[in-house]
Amino acid sequence: MYVPFDVAPGALSAAVDGLRALAVRGVNVTIPHKTTVIPFLDELTPAARAIGAVNTIVNDEGRLIGDNTDGIGFVRSLEEVGFTPRGARVLIVGAGGAARAIAVTLARSGAGRVVIANRSRANAEQLAAAVRKYGAEAAAVPLVADVLRAESAAADVLIQTTPAGMSRSDGAAPFELPLPADALSPSVLVADIVYTPLETPLLAMAARRGCPTVPGWGMLLHQGAEAFSRWTGMDAPVDIMRDVLLHALTAPETRGG
Ligand code: NAP
Repeated sequence: MYVPFDVAPGALSAAVDGLRALAVRGVNVTIPHKTTVIPFLDELTPAARAIGAVNTIVNDEGRLIGDNTDGIGFVRSLEEVGFTPRGARVLIVGAGGAARAIAVTLARSGAGRVVIANRSRANAEQLAAAVRKYGAEAAAVPLVADVLRAESAAADVLIQTTPAGMSRSDGAAPFELPLPADALSPSVLVADIVYTPLETPLLAMAARRGCPTVPGWGMLLHQGAEAFSRWTGMDAPVDIMRDVLLHALTAPETRGG
């Protein structure tokens, strides 16, 4: 059984103790607890340590192990379209929590060069430094049209990790990426981790240019599938999970944002 628990920040320690007391096999952790939960755990996997955040806890007979399946979930979504990270030239737009999970995982998976384009230069620099620790070349660049044009032409994959293009429940216009349509070379793989709407403006633009695309729901699906495997020791029923997820994401209340 997979059930949601709404945990207030002040109740996090008690909630984690509750996992031990009730012998819950595992949980997913999401915002705002992905980093603050770390001091309450017994151990971190190398992935969680490298990313600096936990999205999955495995209860191994009372010993709580913090893991992170966001990055590997994203890599699985790339692998589904035949893309392998080894040696890849990667352009990541954004430098937040999701970008960090993706950038660090790609570096640990052998990516050759990772360029981070972000609004705040300091955040991009910080992420570039984290990527270099895992052996990939890395650079931080500003989020402006000329730079995105040049860097996307030099990349094998462009990964959009900001909320650009995301549906908003208040009906407000989402911010747009400074990426002109003609900047995309038809050979670049374009991935967007935003999954509402299922086809974001960037994915629609990339498809019109003839680029292969990877939708954001793929990362969501595979991070969950990876967590399922860690808790059960079994392969996840990915096809069933995909059907359920897409059904949920196309429900009228989800389409509204
Ligand atoms: P976050 O940590 O808050 O990072 C947000 C990033 O977007 C930062 O790089 C920020 O730039 C940039 N940004 C925000 N507003 C901007 C604007 N108006 N103009 C330019 N840049 C802007 O968020 P996150 O947790 O990484 O999540 C980012 C997105 O990914 C969300 O839409 C989330 O729903 C989605 N997501 C999807 C999955 C999935 O499974 N598919 C998983 C996680 C997250 P600064 O550094 O300059 O602030």
